[in-house]
Amino acid sequence: MRQPGRWHIRAILAALFIGGMIAGCGQSDDASSSEDGKLEVVATTGMIADAVKNIAGETVSIHGLMGPGVDPHLYKATKGDIDRLNSADIIFYNGLNLEAKMAEIFRQMGSSKTTVPIGDVIPDSLRRHPAQFEGHPDPHIWFDVSLWETAVQQVAMTLIDRDSARMDLYCQNASAYLDSLDALHQWVKEQIAQIPENQRVLVTAHDAFGYFGRAYGVEVEGLQGISTVTEAGLYDVTHMIDLLVERKIKAVFVESSVPRKSIEAVVEGCRSRGHEIVIGGELFSDAMGQAGTPEGTYLGMVRHNVNAIVKALK
Ligand SMILES: [Zn+2]
Repeated sequence: MRQPGRWHIRAILAALFIGGMIAGCGQSDDASSSEDGKLEVVATTGMIADAVKNIAGETVSIHGLMGPGVDPHLYKATKGDIDRLNSADIIFYNGLNLEAKMAEIFRQMGSSKTTVPIGDVIPDSLRRHPAQFEGHPDPHIWFDVSLWETAVQQVAMTLIDRDSARMDLYCQNASAYLDSLDALHQWVKEQIAQIPENQRVLVTAHDAFGYFGRAYGVEVEGLQGISTVTEAGLYDVTHMIDLLVERKIKAVFVESSVPRKSIEAVVEGCRSRGHEIVIGGELFSDAMGQAGTPEGTYLGMVRHNVNAIVKALK
């Protein structure tokens, strides 16, 4: 179902473009460094690379740095990555300190090329500021689909800025993609509503799902806090077991990009106290699934997660 606002995306994009509000404005238009004339685009996470593919299709050459199972909190750029970033026309990254070990690289490259931290467009009033992350906002914005739409529009605006000859195509594609994200957002709401209210508790290894919980009415508990840099301590594990036993929660979840051992300790702990709990499946949190599978796209990864959560908790 189209929302009225989507009809105006072109006008919105154009207005922002003219207003010079797009990151990277002032760089020369339509300049591409590749031999085939295509813009060379590098994105950090799979979710961002997927948005670029949906909006630009074959018109750009897109490379995602972080493949399946890769943890962006801990990821360090390889020599090959640095070469790619150096030759890129546009660099998209999540920002909000997600790619914590690459921050300095982006800061340096930002003075000479178009580097776009797409999470920066999320207004501060809509960012989560959990105490445990010491001054940084929660970077996992892609799990509130409506919030992610705002970030996706930043991708579209940047592409238009750098390749204005294809403005019509980018607007058309962005509009269609935003429509599918609207539909996804509604679908997630409907699915979560099937879980009894007192069972809407999502326990995972690290706190990637805070925005998901806020958007869709799910209580979220992560063992490691918001980044995977700190390991779960004994206190966290014990506290989590208490909660699961008291609330009689049926399942906890592992994540494709985070080691399982702390979640497995929680399952064992519950069992030793007579509460049978299962691992409700593997969620894709900070990295998507394999290319060529449904979970290798943003839409597919969200659907996979929601299906796994609903199946295990309802
Ligand atoms: Zn994370």
